[in-house]
Amino acid sequence: MTENFSVTAICVKSIDYKENDKLLTLCSAERGKLTALARGAKKAAAKLKYAAQPFTFGEYTLTGKGRYIIDCKQIESFSSILNSLDSYYSGCCVLEILMKTCAEDTPSPELVVGAAKALSRLSGGDNPHETLKDYMLFTLAESGYKFDFNICAACGALIDKEAYFSASEGVLCPHCKGLFPKKIPSDALFVLKGGSGAGDVMLKGANIFLSELLNELIGIKINSLNFYGELTV
Ligand SMILES: [Zn+2]
Repeated sequence: MTENFSVTAICVKSIDYKENDKLLTLCSAERGKLTALARGAKKAAAKLKYAAQPFTFGEYTLTGKGRYIIDCKQIESFSSILNSLDSYYSGCCVLEILMKTCAEDTPSPELVVGAAKALSRLSGGDNPHETLKDYMLFTLAESGYKFDFNICAACGALIDKEAYFSASEGVLCPHCKGLFPKKIPSDALFVLKGGSGAGDVMLKGANIFLSELLNELIGIKINSLNFYGELTV
């Protein structure tokens, strides 16, 4: 008989399965992404009801072969994320990005801790757009893409109000932009240079630009970002 095992994980997805069950996608520190069934979790009084809620961060115990969840000790529910629509949608983006970066059978403690920190900020009332921006920068850095938006990657000149982006080189000044330049929108550049006092519209602009980088550099398309509505390209 295979022994049961426990993982520290965030529930990133929960779908109805059969009459009373939920099929969960968990991103765990110890084993990366896995799916498992929470039997009876749809019933109001179910022991695993809260374990089956997206955003739940907990210690999940699974059966030996990992097909069923038999227990969950909640570490944090992050339930305050549901108090504001912007926090909720930003939280959905965090879960989606985590789900798409966390690989199966791959210990992923940094990714899980990074996402838990972002969810904790959202739950604590931090600006949802700023939190999402920081989380996307974290995800890029974890994937090996750490950019300095204040210095041209080619010549070292300080970046002022105009900059370009190249997948192979990074952030470039107007003199080094090359033949097919992708201009960094000025709002996004202001935010990513660390400018203070940016409002939500500027932060959203930065997030859309970062979501394009996630798509271009690591192949992640964030569907949850559609909540930005007409701003989303
Ligand atoms: Zn330059």
